[in-house]
Amino acid sequence: MKTAQHKPTSAYVHIPFCTQICYYCDFAKVYIKNQPVDDYITALLAEVAAENITALKTLYIGGGTPTALSSEQLDRLLSGLTQNLDLTELQEFTVEANPGDLSDEKIAVLKKNHVNRVSLGVQTFNDKLLKKIGRSHNAQDVFDNVAKLKAAGFDNITIDLIYALPGQTMADVKQDVANILSLDLPHVALYSLILENHTIFMNKMRRGRLDLPSEDTDFEMYNYIIDSLQDAGFEHYEISNFGKAGYESAHNLMYWNNAEYYGFGAGASGYVDGVRYKNHVPIHHYLEHADKQVVKEKLTLKEQMEEELFLGLRKKSGVNIKQFSEKFNQDFEAIYGQTVTELIEKQLLEKSGNHIFMTRQGLMLGNDVFETFLLDDD
Ligand code: SF4
Repeated sequence: MKTAQHKPTSAYVHIPFCTQICYYCDFAKVYIKNQPVDDYITALLAEVAAENITALKTLYIGGGTPTALSSEQLDRLLSGLTQNLDLTELQEFTVEANPGDLSDEKIAVLKKNHVNRVSLGVQTFNDKLLKKIGRSHNAQDVFDNVAKLKAAGFDNITIDLIYALPGQTMADVKQDVANILSLDLPHVALYSLILENHTIFMNKMRRGRLDLPSEDTDFEMYNYIIDSLQDAGFEHYEISNFGKAGYESAHNLMYWNNAEYYGFGAGASGYVDGVRYKNHVPIHHYLEHADKQVVKEKLTLKEQMEEELFLGLRKKSGVNIKQFSEKFNQDFEAIYGQTVTELIEKQLLEKSGNHIFMTRQGLMLGNDVFETFLLDDD
């Protein structure tokens, strides 16, 4: 049995149900109608109970769409998850919500169950574009929900925004940014549309029927959004995340700091005792198996070092190379010195004291930078 201080202090809980299927989405999710939602919640709470967790610093309920559950189901889930927790330890409790699903009743359920951060899947404020990407809410839902959440006492609200959508123009992006700023929120997560396999958008693209902005426009949008958010007092503290002081996501920082965490629910990933695992998916496989974990991979030293770099470099503060050398008992300079020098010459990386961190250009080309840190197998 693990001693208390070695247990992870963060948990991710996956709710794989949605009230709509968005055209760009490749997450583990299904349309909620006729799904065994109550059985799923029962199995999920049993999976959590088996770990005997009494203290967490961060708890994150994602999906899918947690607010696709009914108010009663949401209440059973949240109260079940928190009933054995020492709530004085719980710093950040986030629930993802779809603006179209978030009723007054559900907001009251969130409040009652100690949720203190709500992540709204806004994507864009343009109703035509929302329809075009398969979302079921409209911009007015977002304004209404934010007002209601604030009235209920939620000040820590984050919204997801996607840019480079099909048919989107710079003027649309400027309007989205103006709307975000008018809401006066403390956190924004920003993503460029990525075409994933097995999505409606990928099928359309293959048939030549997706009108995406050019790479230049994509870059212009990216720069415009970053500049506008920074001018408005947001710090670009991670590749995709912007927060006002004190509102950086503690849960997400835990991932980027390469800490361990539990992952519960169908298709959820976790990292416990040096083992990265993934749970069964789809839902009926998850329900059928007593051992919920299907993939378990003990990381080698090389993999651990690579992950530390890939995750750490996502943050604006980057990686502390002295701490890296101490943590892994390796000489960072001897292993990565040459790579770092080359990336600095290409203006993708900067070094200051013991820290290396990406430039804006590096952040935009994230994966290309990460690849250069991959080590050859021995
Ligand atoms: S983007 Fe979110 S709401 Fe849309 S299908 Fe994917 S998980 Fe569901």
